[in-house]
Amino acid sequence: MICLGIESTAHTFGIGIVTNKGKVLANAIDAFKTEKGGLIPNELRNHHEDVKDNVLKTALEKAEIKLKDIDLVAFSQGPGMGPALRVGLSTAKDISSETKAPVVGVNHCVAHLEVGRLLTEATDPVLLYASGANTQIIAYESGKYRIFGETLDQGIGNFIDAFARYLGLGFPGGPKIEGIALKGKDYIQLPYVVKGMDVSFSGILTDLKRKYDSKIHDTGNLAFSLQETVFAMLTEVSERAMAHTGKKELLLGGGVACNKRLQEMCSIMCRERKAKLFVPENQFLVDNAVMIAWLGILMKKHATKDHKRIDIKPYERTDDIKVTWK
Ligand code: AMP
Ligand code: MG
Repeated sequence: MICLGIESTAHTFGIGIVTNKGKVLANAIDAFKTEKGGLIPNELRNHHEDVKDNVLKTALEKAEIKLKDIDLVAFSQGPGMGPALRVGLSTAKDISSETKAPVVGVNHCVAHLEVGRLLTEATDPVLLYASGANTQIIAYESGKYRIFGETLDQGIGNFIDAFARYLGLGFPGGPKIEGIALKGKDYIQLPYVVKGMDVSFSGILTDLKRKYDSKIHDTGNLAFSLQETVFAMLTEVSERAMAHTGKKELLLGGGVACNKRLQEMCSIMCRERKAKLFVPENQFLVDNAVMIAWLGILMKKHATKDHKRIDIKPYERTDDIKVTWK
């Protein structure tokens, strides 16, 4: 069985092609970027509409298959931005009507976890999912992927991007802040906001903007302190989720997990508690459609869904999904 997955929850339009054995045949994406400013939902829709045919063509060429070879179509139904999600849904319907392949809608956050299990040796990990819009600590317990901790306001990537935008940098800001942080070495005190198992970034953002405006602080030191603070918060709650569940594996997912300093902090924490850290390649950390195709296969094999009712679910939660395939 060959599954074609479609990702369009936010900035990235992607098509991934995977076999039922988990062989990745293609991972094509086109991600929206800006010189200045952030993501506007209608601009994302236009971007996805503009690039979708090309991304599909690239994926089919890479996989060396024709559209008629597709047996299943999976698309990311949520969580995400409505206008962007709708492009994925309509693309799924178009491909399905051409190929007669059934369509399955999948949860984006669960897909990050499952692709990590496919591509690394992680079997039952705690997932630190650190992306643009989402920040969650997820682990399997009693039939569901449960959220053990999460952001109370914005996602960590959106927070970093917002500070980057304040410095006049475009989207995505994360890699740029990582570069600037390498020039800093003096830690500037910032609020450290962990509430129970949850984290919050908006107060830190306000404080950073204020410190930047004061012109007293070096920008490198601010970027360095931002990373040290918020990555320590994420490492702390991940460690507590591991202690609580007794799990011995930490898996990273989401674009922010590409950050070398976050990876280093998690690696030290795992080493100290004799746990294993798994970090998929960057192309599978960021939003991609291989993970969507693979979760589609898992759900189809285990007949999780009524394939007739397909729609977008912009507010779907990780723990809304009953995990029948594990
Ligand atoms: P995703 O939504 O999972 O595709 O991830 C996109 C987010 O990851 C954006 O907010 C980026 O700024 C952020 N990002 C990408 N690379 C890095 C990096 N090296 N360090 C920090 N954030 C990053
Ligand atoms: Mg994501």
